[in-house]
Amino acid sequence: MTAQLAPLVPAAPPPTTPPSTRLWTPSRVLVTRSAAERPHGQRILARLEAAGVSDVELLPGDRLPNLRGDGDRAAFMRAKDTLAVVVPPPSKRKLQPIPPSADWRVDLAEGCPAHCQYCYLAGSLGGPPITRVWADLDEVLDELDAYVGRGAITSGTLERGGEGTTFEASCYTDPLAIEHLTGGLSRMVEHFGTHDWPGPVQLRATTKFDGVAGLLDLPHGGRTRLRFSVNATSVDRRFEGATAKVPARLRALSAIAAAGYPVGLTIAPIMPVEGWREEYGALLDAVAAALPAGADLTVECITHRFTPGSKETLLDWYPRTKLDMDEARRTTKRGRYGSVKHVYPKETMAELRGWFEAALAERLPRAQLLYWT
Ligand code: SF4
Repeated sequence: MTAQLAPLVPAAPPPTTPPSTRLWTPSRVLVTRSAAERPHGQRILARLEAAGVSDVELLPGDRLPNLRGDGDRAAFMRAKDTLAVVVPPPSKRKLQPIPPSADWRVDLAEGCPAHCQYCYLAGSLGGPPITRVWADLDEVLDELDAYVGRGAITSGTLERGGEGTTFEASCYTDPLAIEHLTGGLSRMVEHFGTHDWPGPVQLRATTKFDGVAGLLDLPHGGRTRLRFSVNATSVDRRFEGATAKVPARLRALSAIAAAGYPVGLTIAPIMPVEGWREEYGALLDAVAAALPAGADLTVECITHRFTPGSKETLLDWYPRTKLDMDEARRTTKRGRYGSVKHVYPKETMAELRGWFEAALAERLPRAQLLYWT
């Protein structure tokens, strides 16, 4: 570490049970001046030190250096291995609606160190793929009361029942991928669990990681639904680099459900790979075996899709990918403002949907299917 600040707030104790997956150690960490002054920034600095991350640069101002490099493979890998702790611009503090997943998007970071060859961030985040962690988390949490009772799900447009106003924390990151370095998800879980809210609320996060030990004993109050993003074995093996493998995610799901959290499955991106019925059937059987009795489980099903922009970015990042992004085998869906998405043809969608609805009803009869897309 090139410089240090005395922590204002003590770091949370480290998890007692290590995850099965190697934890990410960024090769470079940049911390802006404003970020280092915030309590959450100080907590992150303490965690980085405890994790033995040595290359931490405390910047003299709030601008990050140019991280684009030459735009080549080495620059991409360097960016993927860089963590920046910053205070985001004020415009980021106004929460955006994010149906059908939740009423509101609340971000603790943007970017992810993993290497999923279909990564949805390729279509939504621009610039070099570094992971930016927001240091103003405490202020963001303090402002959430104003959103309670508002939103598409809360107002009943999307009838989901009993969830309260929902806040999604994993739109632009995988919060558990960076939790050992930031403690941000724990901070959110505790806030949602212990704050005196003006109405019912739920924090939602989804992950492809398994480092849940630090969450198990938190006072979550049943107000955080942690969902595990899962897939067929062949999709996990071929396309989900540097994540926890699905069996490890299911062990984490089991532990989190046993700790009283409501849990979820995000089955995504669903792909009709060879033998998909058998592979997804085995996945649902494994989930059923992992779940403690009486677990509160929801399911979200998202089929694979891509946009012209995400395809270009993904081919740039993973030029040798075998991911099927052939437009000729897809149907074009046009969104508002002329955006284009390539989704599976109607017949494939109907076949997939019919199978999943029946398989879920049979294998996980107590689960609530929130949406199919
Ligand atoms: Fe992208 Fe999620 Fe994979 Fe991270 S874990 S690379 S955010 S798809």
